[in-house]
Amino acid sequence: MTSSYERYLGMDRPITRRDFMNGAAMAIGAAVLPHGQVFGTTGAAEPQNQAGYDPPVKEGLRGSHPGSFEIAHNLRDGTFWKTAGKPVDTEETYDLVIVGGGISGLAAAYFFREKAGPSARILILENHDDFGGHAKRNEFHLGGKLQLLNGGTLLIDSPNPYSAVADGLLKKLGIDPSQFEAKFTDHKLYRSLGLRSAVFFDKETLGEDRVVVGTPGRSWDDEGAAENQSPGSSDWADFVARTPLSPEIRRDIVRIQEAKVDYMPGLSSAEKKSRLAKISYRDFLLNVVKADPEVIPFYQTRTNGEWGVGIDAEPALDCWALGLPGFQGMNLEPGSAPDMSYSAAGYANGGSYRFHFPDGNASIARLLVRALIPDAVPGHTAEDIVTAQVDYGRLDRDGAPVRIRLNSTVVGVRNVGTSSAGQVEITYASGKQVLQVHAKGCVLACWNMVIPYLCPELPQAQKEALHYLVKVPLVYASVGIRNWTSFKKLGMQEIFSPGSYWPEVGLNVAVNIGEYRSPTSPEEPMLLHLVRTPCKPGLPAREQHKIGRYELLATTFETFELKTRDQLARILSAGGFDPARDIEAITINRWPHGYGYEYNPLFDPAWPEDQRPNVIGRKRFGRITIANTDSAATAYTDSAIDQAHRAVSELLADAEGA
Ligand SMILES: Cc1cc2nc3c(=O)[nH]c(=O)nc-3n(C[C@H](O)[C@H](O)[C@H](O)COP(=O)(O)OP(=O)(O)OC[C@H]3O[C@@H](n4cnc5c(N)ncnc54)[C@H](O)[C@@H]3O)c2cc1C
Repeated sequence: MTSSYERYLGMDRPITRRDFMNGAAMAIGAAVLPHGQVFGTTGAAEPQNQAGYDPPVKEGLRGSHPGSFEIAHNLRDGTFWKTAGKPVDTEETYDLVIVGGGISGLAAAYFFREKAGPSARILILENHDDFGGHAKRNEFHLGGKLQLLNGGTLLIDSPNPYSAVADGLLKKLGIDPSQFEAKFTDHKLYRSLGLRSAVFFDKETLGEDRVVVGTPGRSWDDEGAAENQSPGSSDWADFVARTPLSPEIRRDIVRIQEAKVDYMPGLSSAEKKSRLAKISYRDFLLNVVKADPEVIPFYQTRTNGEWGVGIDAEPALDCWALGLPGFQGMNLEPGSAPDMSYSAAGYANGGSYRFHFPDGNASIARLLVRALIPDAVPGHTAEDIVTAQVDYGRLDRDGAPVRIRLNSTVVGVRNVGTSSAGQVEITYASGKQVLQVHAKGCVLACWNMVIPYLCPELPQAQKEALHYLVKVPLVYASVGIRNWTSFKKLGMQEIFSPGSYWPEVGLNVAVNIGEYRSPTSPEEPMLLHLVRTPCKPGLPAREQHKIGRYELLATTFETFELKTRDQLARILSAGGFDPARDIEAITINRWPHGYGYEYNPLFDPAWPEDQRPNVIGRKRFGRITIANTDSAATAYTDSAIDQAHRAVSELLADAEGA
């Protein structure tokens, strides 16, 4: 890559990305306070109380942003206590302290207050500069108009219907997903402009840079099950004829997509499913369908968005449930089978309702905060939450029953005293300050893998179980562009790029809710959503996630930016897109600890329910209980809510029994 090419891409352009330096500066500012000097828990020095504090508008590196994870990593590496000052007791006491301000932590506060009453004193400690956990909001003001995207959690959608508890919470917050979906999502906009799904063939993986528009059976509306719906014989033949692929590979792709062949004649549906559960989709294509190995790159990253790994590490049966092709002649009966992953089994049975708020499930987090601290979030409805401006200075005020303290990493949680008269001592760090608070109970709504470091006194078997669930790394980029006339000219709304750095690129979902309006004219600025899931094909899934996480943490913003500009230029320049001129903002939402791990039938034993690592890991420990999606071994918002409810119920049952 030459510097003139980098100039063409616009790497020297002053987009607002440098804001991420503010995040680092904020953390450093806290770090230089002398040891032992206490902020005062709601003091003016607390970053969230500074004028203009508004994390959703920050660009640059978000997600696990600089300043959010270093303390936890030092704790893991055994270096934290070597340099930390002696903890200072704030003498604050609470009925409940919650570690983690994601949807599980916020829901735990909601459920606890429902039972314990509005005067219950609750503190939520969160290591990031914003609440919401994965459910984060990216807020842009492009051409003076508010535009939103999800920095993490995309939408209300789960493999199984929401439980009475999770659905009940949504209803109490004023969300009716089915009604909202029908009322607020504009399914017609892109279609009315003639935009379709496309594939970008890149020269490094697929021989030549070429965009082919009109992927048969694909669009936002029928995403998921579409590929399995035998689109009519001319569709795929016409599509592959326009690709740079060789005639042999084209033939194989048409065969995989359309041929109605039973590759396992003589077996019952159940027997076929059992066999398909034991081989990867890659092996299915190569050894059962007998496809040319050269077709693999076309399909390799098709499962990454769902599970964080490619088709080498996903069972063929799960891929059937996800709608991947090749099974259309196999007469598999609809519905789940015993050896399927959580997601695949659920989706095979139909899944839940769906709705995408413009900022994803950050709207749920914001509604929870409004319910807990009403004067911090103005408004009254699930529609007006979308444009509400959070007053971060009101989240952690002296005397308030519920307080949310950001930029605070918990480093120790300990039962103190006997069960009946005991308390929990919670130690947290904010910069170089190490502070202590006390509570009658504590819910750990943080990630499983950090809990053994917070509670070294846990039984060894429980610590090992907590370590098992390796989270899935992924990155969502939000890119603001000056207009989307290039998409209009090329006739596409989303581009699957099987071999590229960002396999998924698409226009923002069109949703109009409350006072929020999505762009409708290609002349207006627009947000793009890009997805990458770093992994290492060929290894077991958990190993791939670990390697992907190292890659993510080692990647600089400049590399993400360069890859973004390069890929958008290669896909869109034929439509008149100029990367230097047209890119106005880039936010990289980096999630090294992303989706909760769900068991993978290719690699994980079929444990009995009570021996699953998530079940062993979430056991109550004195006055400490454990929430978070990891406790369910899933990666969905409804699980985060259900697990919060269980953890709070365990705590209250213990208190009543004590
Ligand atoms: C990119 C992405 C997209 C997703 N999309 C969807 C989707 O479309 N639909 C869906 O249902 N689910 C989705 N998920 C899954 C999502 O994780 C769950 O929906 C849910 O939001 C998880 O909530 P949680 O509270 O359990 O965990 P989290 O959101 O991870 O919250 C836990 C919080 O605890 C904090 N924490 C950890 N350790 C400490 C400590 N020591 N001290 C203080 N705080 C700590 C963490 O930083 C984090 O903020 C997605 C996840 C990711 C990463």
